[in-house]
Amino acid sequence: MTRVYNFAAGPAMLPQAVLEHARDELLEYGSSGMSVMEVNHRGKNFAEVAEHSRDRLRSLMAIPDNYRILFLHGPARIHFAAVPLNLAGDGPAEYVDTGLWSKMAIEEAERLVEVNVVASSREGNYTHIPPLGEWRLAERCSYLHYTPNETIGGVEFHAVPEVDDRVLVADMSSNILSRPIDVGRFGIIYAGAQKNMGIAGLAVVIVREDLLGRARPDIPSMLDYQVHAEADSLACTAPTFAWYLASLVLDWIDAQGGLEAIAVVNKRKAEKLYACIDSSNFYHNPVAADCRSWMNVPFTLPSEGLDEIFLRESAEQGLVGLKGHRFVGGMRASIYNAMPEEGVDRLIEFMGDFMQRHA
Ligand SMILES: *Cc1c(COP(=O)(O)O)cnc(C)c1O
Repeated sequence: MTRVYNFAAGPAMLPQAVLEHARDELLEYGSSGMSVMEVNHRGKNFAEVAEHSRDRLRSLMAIPDNYRILFLHGPARIHFAAVPLNLAGDGPAEYVDTGLWSKMAIEEAERLVEVNVVASSREGNYTHIPPLGEWRLAERCSYLHYTPNETIGGVEFHAVPEVDDRVLVADMSSNILSRPIDVGRFGIIYAGAQKNMGIAGLAVVIVREDLLGRARPDIPSMLDYQVHAEADSLACTAPTFAWYLASLVLDWIDAQGGLEAIAVVNKRKAEKLYACIDSSNFYHNPVAADCRSWMNVPFTLPSEGLDEIFLRESAEQGLVGLKGHRFVGGMRASIYNAMPEEGVDRLIEFMGDFMQRHA
């Protein structure tokens, strides 16, 4: 069997070393006599996984002591509702609209609270980030939500917006752990695991302690971050296998040298792919140069008729998952942490060859 280079946006490629580790202890975790999928989520064996992953994430991201780390079931999208329900209160919720994931977060919040969209790049087809100076920030707000990496449009904030003492909330589903960030600037960070942290079925929430206990009284208890914080993420049966895999991924990131080292590689991978696109008159990426994503690189071919051929021929070379999102069209190469630089090099080589034959 040969493993392919999987450029899919999520579920995404996992490091091979992580899969091998999981395979090697699949039948028996530690000396429990059973797999990690079968151990009690409140027992000693799983406590090791839970504690180890929490400590590892705290050290990798340099998460200050006044933040709680929650490992929760389910999709990132549940937090589009959980965030407004947990931070109910002081003034409208503010949102920055920079792509389809922002838009979905906004639509969900609008069902629950008063929302003020402070800036939007929708008219420009979500290919730039509205400059901070143009954001229509109100006197008061309960929090300000943004999407640091727009997975579909391939738009990324390369700096955390300077918004004073606002409670900043970020959906980091597609760029968590891709580079160092200053967690202390945020009120809440949440992310689904299936892009850069493991497999589907798990989401991580990093929440500043003083924001716990502000939830609306009618909040379903399993959406209440305080309930999960008080129970150390074991209020319900934990998603044990997904949590365990995340723990292995965190160890793998640490073994790569942590986020500083990962960021160097991620930047290099992205820059060479954009250089390949920009130096051709064949491929095109519409995103403004200062906010192109390191994680998701959309690009189009000169005619839609070539898309099917590109997808077929690339798959024959072991380069799969390149079909773009229908909103943007063309291709999208998702090059998360687990995509080896070799995979990007192979893609670039294929793109050069394809262009030669079809230009
Ligand atoms: C993938 C993604 C989501 C949705 O994740 P689910 O776990 O499927 O809910 C939300 N936000 C961003 C930025 C994403 O990339």
